[in-house]
Amino acid sequence: MDKHRRTFLKRAAGGAAAAVASSGAGAFPRREELPLPPNAIGMLYDSTMCIGCRACVDACKEANDMPVEQPAKFSDWNQDTWDTAEDLSGRTLNVIQVYADGTKEHKDEVENGYAFVKRHCLHCVDPSCVSVCPVSAMIKDPDTGVVTHDRDACIGCRYCVYGCPFGVPQYEFHDPFGQITKCQFCIHLQKEGRLPACCDVCPTGASLFGLVEELQKEAEQRLAAKPGEPYVFPRGKLGDDKYPPHEAPLPEYEPYVYGVTESGGTQVRYLTGVPHEKLGLPEVQAASFASIAEGMQHTLYKGMIAPLALLAGLMYFAKRSTRQDSDDED
Ligand code: SF4
Ligand code: SF4
Ligand code: SF4
Repeated sequence: MDKHRRTFLKRAAGGAAAAVASSGAGAFPRREELPLPPNAIGMLYDSTMCIGCRACVDACKEANDMPVEQPAKFSDWNQDTWDTAEDLSGRTLNVIQVYADGTKEHKDEVENGYAFVKRHCLHCVDPSCVSVCPVSAMIKDPDTGVVTHDRDACIGCRYCVYGCPFGVPQYEFHDPFGQITKCQFCIHLQKEGRLPACCDVCPTGASLFGLVEELQKEAEQRLAAKPGEPYVFPRGKLGDDKYPPHEAPLPEYEPYVYGVTESGGTQVRYLTGVPHEKLGLPEVQAASFASIAEGMQHTLYKGMIAPLALLAGLMYFAKRSTRQDSDDED
């Protein structure tokens, strides 16, 4: 394809998108948001309880048969021995990241402090990855709400990568037959009556498994109690006595449970000691992207506006491109 034709196609696609976008998403009716499923399961990650041991990262790798990840600088030595994942990738479904400031003396403080954050799929209540997938390879369980990925159905288009507001799905670029990867809530372990690996191994209960509604009550209880008071923190699964709880003074929390409203709500919720933006948890609008995008799509295609906008975009840039070509030739 020559340079002009490539530029033309790029501009035409952009023009059509801009034509649709300029009409404003607010002008379209939204489809109704999906509610929390009846037996929604989820996770409460309490950043203040996290000690950054990364036991959850290792357990996740092992449980999901994922390769170790190492920065390129380590490629000549110790290859494939231990994992140093810094972000989510085609090799890593779960990662612990660190916020750090100044002298890094105080845990869960913004100034001269540090704090941990765990990143993986949030199992959205109304997931955009499911909404954008053209072949239904992303599936939300109607009962538990767990969002899984069907490798056999997936065509590798990566729409889910661009559609997820939390940057979760990743592509296996290291594999010539690469696929999409993301946390599936260890559904294979849950089928055997086991806990998701990360919650099972977490020594402090920072990653706590349970029913979303009960986890939310637990989070609100922690926020309502007085900082410094002794509190009994459950471990593993909320309401289960497999692992003994541990007592510790309550920290000073940010007065916000992340995941209640973000993009229509998520089944993984966060309590933090520093503002969530500091931890890289994105500021996301309350309305689910899926409900907005699907509302737009239905309206546009009903009125044949999308094909017309695309045609208008193509014609406009075809004209401009032709004029430019003849200018270039002069
Ligand atoms: S966090 Fe992203 S990948 Fe996970 S369910 Fe939500 S939209 Fe899908
Ligand atoms: S639920 Fe399983 S797949 Fe998801 S982050 Fe935890 S260990 Fe990894
Ligand atoms: S296992 Fe628990 S304490 Fe350790 S890094 Fe993971 S979430 Fe934090």
